[in-house]
Amino acid sequence: MSQSVRSGTSSETTAKNYPSCGLWPWAAQMKHSCDSNVRYSFINDMMIVRAARNIPRDTELTIWHQSPLITEQIDKRMVIPRLNFECNCPVCTDILNTSKKGSRKRARLRLEILSTLNCVKPDTEKVEDLLAEIEKTFVKPVHESRRFALWELYHKLAEVYLSRARRPKMVECLLKSLEALGFIIENAIIPNTRRLEVKKWGIAIPNTVLTWILISLYYKYEGYKDKEKQAAEYARITYRICIGEDDTFDQYHSAYFMFSQSTET
Ligand SMILES: [Zn+2]
Repeated sequence: MSQSVRSGTSSETTAKNYPSCGLWPWAAQMKHSCDSNVRYSFINDMMIVRAARNIPRDTELTIWHQSPLITEQIDKRMVIPRLNFECNCPVCTDILNTSKKGSRKRARLRLEILSTLNCVKPDTEKVEDLLAEIEKTFVKPVHESRRFALWELYHKLAEVYLSRARRPKMVECLLKSLEALGFIIENAIIPNTRRLEVKKWGIAIPNTVLTWILISLYYKYEGYKDKEKQAAEYARITYRICIGEDDTFDQYHSAYFMFSQSTET
């Protein structure tokens, strides 16, 4: 029996943001993996499925039937009762192999970091120390498994550094947020002038478009034109993966660029 595949992060969010739904039987045949290798998007009622990374021949295509990034799901093994499915992806395996004590510590640290970041004047040193602690709770090295619990934390810390015009720290955190999603990136730290390169693509989500744009703007500010273009190109690719097309990317990019110029300190 075919299953419906719907956009959005949960049925509740979907119902609120998308007034219609449909059945896409072919796409519904794809299994879930939190570490999925394709992403789907919609333009009107047309579903677009795009590779989210280089996929070797004969590799099974996997998608998200449910987002592993929503707060309620972070640090839990993905179980989808309606599909009678329990996920065995590297992320879920890592969660299963983490001791209860380790899981509790991770959850406690995550809450403490979020609460510190939500203060009016977040103590960034404290957040950095807590992030160093939470990194130690993961079983596998970061390049072997995504650390979904961390990408948002690094991204929020980057926003704090951005608001304080501490751009090198901002980029450091943005790169960490991409690393937590599985990206392996080379030559990102200046003054290295070698070509910026994504050696391995991680999970592309709409927020990572903004991540790449901010990185690109940082290189522009520092006068690294080649890296600025490369980061902007990665923003465009991510946009195409997540949105399905990139015809509207320039509009999005220039709107953000104008906004960032107007908020420069
Ligand atoms: Zn999983």
